[in-house]
Amino acid sequence: MLDLHIHLLGHNDREANRDNIRAFLDEASRRGLKEIGFADHDYYWEQMNFPLICEVAREYPHLAVRIGLEAEYRPNEEERIRNLLSQYPFDYVIGSVHEIAGWIFDIPEEEPKHHQKDADELYREYFNVVTQAAKSGLFTTIGHFDLIKVFGVRPASDVTVLADEALTTVAEHGLVLEVNTNGRYKPVKEFYPEKCLMEEIKRRGIDFTLGSDAHFAAAVGRDIDEAAQLLRRIGVHSVVGFRNFAKVSYILE
Ligand SMILES: [Zn+2]
Ligand SMILES: [Zn+2]
Repeated sequence: MLDLHIHLLGHNDREANRDNIRAFLDEASRRGLKEIGFADHDYYWEQMNFPLICEVAREYPHLAVRIGLEAEYRPNEEERIRNLLSQYPFDYVIGSVHEIAGWIFDIPEEEPKHHQKDADELYREYFNVVTQAAKSGLFTTIGHFDLIKVFGVRPASDVTVLADEALTTVAEHGLVLEVNTNGRYKPVKEFYPEKCLMEEIKRRGIDFTLGSDAHFAAAVGRDIDEAAQLLRRIGVHSVVGFRNFAKVSYILE
C-alpha cells in the first residue's frame, strides 16, 4: 500500500539527515508499503533536503519514494505557494486548510471556540476555504478533507450538503482526496473524512489516496491497511499515488 502524507521534519522536531530519513524508510519497509511520500509543512522550507532523500531512497529499491509538500492554503497567499512549487519538481502537492481568516483552528487551545460557534457556520466557513484551495490549481490533493471536525463538533445539517461545493470543485479539477488516518489520534478519534463523506466522494468518482500524517517514524503507515479495507468495503477498487504530478494507480486487494 502507500502512504503519501509523511512529515520527515515533524514540527521541526528533527533534521533531514541520513539517519532520520532511514528511520522513516525502514518503518515503511517493515510495514510492506510500496510507495511513500514525504510532504513536510511548507513553513519548514529552509530545513528541507530533497536531494538527500532521493539519495538515501536508492538504498531502498523496493520502495517508490516520492517528494511532495503540504502547503498551508490561505486565499491571499497563492503567489507565495506558486513560487515555492516552482523551485522543485514535486511529485505531488497537498493543499491543506488549517486556518480560517487568520484563525488557526486545529490547535488544542482553540477547542473552546469550536463549541462557541454555530456548528453549521463553522463548517460553511471551513469548506468555503477548501473550495478556494481546490480552485487555485496549485494542488494535486486536498489534505484531511473534513479537518474542521477535529474536536468532535458536528453540524446540524448534512455534512455532504455543507461540503457540496468543495466536492464539486475537487471533482472538476481532478483533485484527489486522502483517507488520513491521523484523525483517530485527535479528539474526534476517527479518520478524515468521515464515512458518509467517503461514500459521497466515491459516488462522485473522485480518486482517493492514503496518508498517515506521520510526524515521527513509528507512525509511518499507521492504520493504512485498515483505511484501505474501509475503502474496499464501500466499493472503492483502487487508490492513487503520484509521480511527477501524474496519478499512479494501486489496486486494493
Ligand atoms: Zn495538515
Ligand atoms: Zn500533515
